[in-house]
Amino acid sequence: MALLAQVALGALAIAFMTFVAFFGRLPALRHTPIAWLHRAIWISIPNAILALDQRLTSGRLTSWTDRFGNYVMFGRHPTILIFFFLLLTVGEYMYLPGAWPRMSALHRLMGAIAIVLPYVFLYLAAYSDPGVITPATHSRWMSHYPYDFTLFHPGQTCRTCNLLKPARSKHCAVCNRCVAKMDHHCVFINNCVGYGNQHWFLLLLLSTAILTAYGGTLGLRLVSQNARARSAAFNLWKPHSMPWRTYFVLLTIGIQDDVGLGSVTLLAAMTSPLVWGLLGYHAYLIYCGTTTNESMKWQDWQAEMDDGFAFKRQLPTPRTKDPRVEAAWTRWPVEPVQVMVRTEDGEPPNSGSASELGVGEWERVWHLRDVENLYDLGLADNMIDVFVPNHSFRAETVTDLERGRRSKKPKARPGAGLVAAAT
Ligand SMILES: [Zn+2]
Ligand SMILES: [Zn+2]
Repeated sequence: MALLAQVALGALAIAFMTFVAFFGRLPALRHTPIAWLHRAIWISIPNAILALDQRLTSGRLTSWTDRFGNYVMFGRHPTILIFFFLLLTVGEYMYLPGAWPRMSALHRLMGAIAIVLPYVFLYLAAYSDPGVITPATHSRWMSHYPYDFTLFHPGQTCRTCNLLKPARSKHCAVCNRCVAKMDHHCVFINNCVGYGNQHWFLLLLLSTAILTAYGGTLGLRLVSQNARARSAAFNLWKPHSMPWRTYFVLLTIGIQDDVGLGSVTLLAAMTSPLVWGLLGYHAYLIYCGTTTNESMKWQDWQAEMDDGFAFKRQLPTPRTKDPRVEAAWTRWPVEPVQVMVRTEDGEPPNSGSASELGVGEWERVWHLRDVENLYDLGLADNMIDVFVPNHSFRAETVTDLERGRRSKKPKARPGAGLVAAAT
């Protein structure tokens, strides 16, 4: 029993830390204990240690600790990537010697594929270009997406890179570079997730989700075989007639027979739902035609709308583009139809002055569903945009006149639904 408790606690601790590291920065969990814990682990506790150190050594180590602290917290380093790699490799090293001889030929083949794929996708996600914006690639990224005049406006320059920000791009503070269709900076791959590697990142999530689910279920089967060798009545679904104590004693024996297999099985079974959850979250973002970064911007818009400070009006068709700040042509099949502004006083902007964009009356917006998401083409095309690099949607016979029609009926954006669910 003591062994079972120890193994379970160890697996639970690793699963929990993984959960916090994975989910702590998700916008959907912004105001939950998970985010506070993430902040505590990555910022507050290290800061407190730094402050204490400074006091104890009278600042002698200040510069060193500062540099070290900055490096650990905000630098680009592969610590978590190595942790992830070791978790996979050590787990497999502990699991396979006991499991492999007991696996059928089919399971050996599928197991081998399930083991190899996460390494392949980890390598591809970590080492491919996420879509770094340089003077050489700038004009290509400018013609990737049009500005939607809601989340992204033409004419904004990155102060660090000194380049106009293409629509959907973001400056990564960790890597100190602008990245096209930036989703987030991922510490597990020590790289930004952007236009260039989003498909590898998703395949890494999918393959890791499959590996943990497969390893977990196969391992549980082997552990219960061990237990059944002691008592034929044992079943993973506890039989009614069997007392809990007997069940746990037998389960402990099943794990004790092969501690490596047993503990990795528990770890896989506990982390698997987390990985599936994160995969589901990213699948939902694709369904909505948005990114982690943009879902935060939508959330901010939702807050403005709740206060009644958000207004929209039509953009003229056809619209004259300013060639100094906008590409004349993009590969995206739709053009923006609306401009959104927020006002300080809750009054609509003066039609003439504040913003000269758009035509007609300003209309107050209360709900995200009343705003068009220019980057949502419907699930199938959203998938193509993620998995087919540099696909030109204009190659199809789609004209500007069809704008808006390709998008299916408005969806609740992550900003609205998920946050409400999580808080
Ligand atoms: Zn930048
Ligand atoms: Zn980055």
